Amino acid sequence: MIRSSDTIRTASGYSRKKAGADSFKEFDASQLYCPRCKRAVPVRKRLLLVLSEGDKYEYLCAFCSESVGTKIDKNTKPSTIIR
Ligand SMILES: [Zn+2]
Repeated sequence: MIRSSDTIRTASGYSRKKAGADSFKEFDASQLYCPRCKRAVPVRKRLLLVLSEGDKYEYLCAFCSESVGTKIDKNTKPSTIIR
């Protein structure tokens, strides 16, 4: 019965338990189209501005660092829900 948790851990990532959900927040937008690479690319998330409505992030191409989009993360304080 308890062994079933091992199966879930293996599927979601290498020995990461429940803490893995936190680290995944940095990569919520997995791939975006880069006009310079002319393909969908993995992106890096960079904090641009802290606004009253939320934090504004810029997505940069992981290969050429071209800006491929922006997004505003609303301030909803999710940490209280997770823990
Ligand atoms: Zn690119």
